Amino acid sequence: MKFSHETFPFACHLTGRCCVQNVIALSPFDIFRLAVHLNKSASQLFQEKILTYTINKADYWMEPIINTGLEMTCPFLLPKSMEEHVCEIYESRPLVCRLYPLKYNPEEDYYFRRLDAENRCSECFSLENENYSLKEFVEKSGLPELTEEYKLYREFLFDLVRSGFNIIDIKHKKPKQKLFFAIQAQLYETFPKEKNELTEYPWQENKKHIESMIEEFQNSN
Ligand code: SF4
Ligand code: SF4
Repeated sequence: MKFSHETFPFACHLTGRCCVQNVIALSPFDIFRLAVHLNKSASQLFQEKILTYTINKADYWMEPIINTGLEMTCPFLLPKSMEEHVCEIYESRPLVCRLYPLKYNPEEDYYFRRLDAENRCSECFSLENENYSLKEFVEKSGLPELTEEYKLYREFLFDLVRSGFNIIDIKHKKPKQKLFFAIQAQLYETFPKEKNELTEYPWQENKKHIESMIEEFQNSN
């Protein structure tokens, strides 16, 4: 783990400002935990438009996100009083929310501060708040375990993109498009199932399954 060397004062005052005008990207692990928490299957979350996809032009990928709608407000943000808001799914909130006000680069295993955080909300960074080093903040928030699984996901995602399963290479190639969307459904919309008996996302098993889908496609083309 690597950190930028700085300390910063931080405390959440429940303003909810980090939950609006933000893209809340999700990993398959995030989707799994969220669906289990809501007692739904992953596919239900997409069918009910709680989750949707957006084009990620940097990764050449279709990214699953929380559907924040035209108002760009997270649907899980609930008002507690005139000034305060709470997260309805706090225990299962996605990694990007747990990281706030930090970001994480999985290629370099590096944590750093979000550039937009201070402009978004001055209360979080009031000098009266407790002072943290990035390392302290990361450890206190229990992030290392979650970023480990995120790293596995991102490595696999880049392998897929590099091997031609990306929004550029599938253009005008119908059979490949079909497989691209089948891979997405398998990765994001399959676990947990309706009658889920799993306690965690079956990462290795599902990764192998997707690899065999690709092998089968390559052998038949
Ligand atoms: S913007 Fe800061 S104070 Fe407001 S909810 Fe987010 S972390 Fe908490
Ligand atoms: S999931 Fe919770 S913490 Fe994350 S943006 Fe929505 S309301 Fe905010």
